[in-house]
Amino acid sequence: MKEGIHPKYNKITVTCTSCGATFESGSVKSEIRVDTCSNCHPFYTGKQRFAAAAGRVEKFNKKFGLK
Ligand SMILES: [Zn+2]
Repeated sequence: MKEGIHPKYNKITVTCTSCGATFESGSVKSEIRVDTCSNCHPFYTGKQRFAAAAGRVEKFNKKFGLK
């Protein structure tokens, strides 16, 4: 590898903002936050989570006067 042209590759902690799970990864960033991860994504859990989505739908409906 050529010296001085590559960003520093760190071992970092990825934090999931939905379920709070953390896991280690590698990145040039020092920290990564994700909205969903393999621990809480419906594809892996087989369950649907509507908590985050519901707030947005309500906001949209309110904005456009829908019920
Ligand atoms: Zn998660």
